[in-house]
Amino acid sequence: MDQNKDQAAALNPVRLTFSSKFQFKCHPGVSCFTECCRGTQIILTPYDVIRLKTRLDLPSDQFLAIYTEPHILEKTDLPVVTLKHLDDGKESCPFVREDGCILYEDRPTACRYYPLGVASLQHKEGADDDGFFFFVNEPHCKGFDEKCQWTVADWRKDQGVDLRDEVNAEWTDLVVHKKSFPPNIKLTPKAKEMFFLVSYNIDEFRRFVFDSTFLQRMPVDEKAREELKTDDVALLKFGVQWLKSILFKPKDPVTGQDIALAEEPK
Ligand code: SF4
Ligand code: SF4
Repeated sequence: MDQNKDQAAALNPVRLTFSSKFQFKCHPGVSCFTECCRGTQIILTPYDVIRLKTRLDLPSDQFLAIYTEPHILEKTDLPVVTLKHLDDGKESCPFVREDGCILYEDRPTACRYYPLGVASLQHKEGADDDGFFFFVNEPHCKGFDEKCQWTVADWRKDQGVDLRDEVNAEWTDLVVHKKSFPPNIKLTPKAKEMFFLVSYNIDEFRRFVFDSTFLQRMPVDEKAREELKTDDVALLKFGVQWLKSILFKPKDPVTGQDIALAEEPK
């Protein structure tokens, strides 16, 4: 089908909207089954890490040490993590087996979107800031030959990315906001450390909130405090709001110190 050839062959991302249509189906009968789980760099969102570390019953720092590797998003200079490949010569995802993904119900957002990509979370310089979608277009993917019609909106719903995007929305907004900074403005190492802590190491962030003077500087009512002690999603949302209050202001609103932004030496 011409449309499919165009989709598969296109080298430049085609901007897709929620109403864009495509033909695609992925199932264990395709000849390429699990090929997309090898040699692919999967950036994890904060909610992905919460779901995965909970599924694996690991504290966030152990999950990060065992299953992820750190990167800096080129366009934002922000730290992110990707799933660490196995050392098996195929760069396989640690969770892929012959019969598919062993934690399919908790698979990351990028795996759910596939074969679509989300521009706002692209690792590479040159990806746009807007949250548009595009076809990942990997030649091994035979799913475009399957006769099943979708709109981007239907695909997102079917794959459960609506929930993930809702939880990650404020964090994504933070990342996109950072992209709009002039290139000579950089976050300080301390600010990047805090971004990473909130975004990925949620159990350690909880210790930071409850075992330091944090709550003396950021008053939180008793009910919310109790929630933050046990609810990772609530803590993530709280942390992202806190990050927003410090990262894009030259001074900490409480201490008045410059903690977040630094001008690059000219
Ligand atoms: S997490 Fe699951 S779906 Fe995603 S790449 Fe790994 S095996 Fe594949
Ligand atoms: S490469 Fe495409 S069709 Fe094949 S398993 Fe992955 S998503 Fe499905």
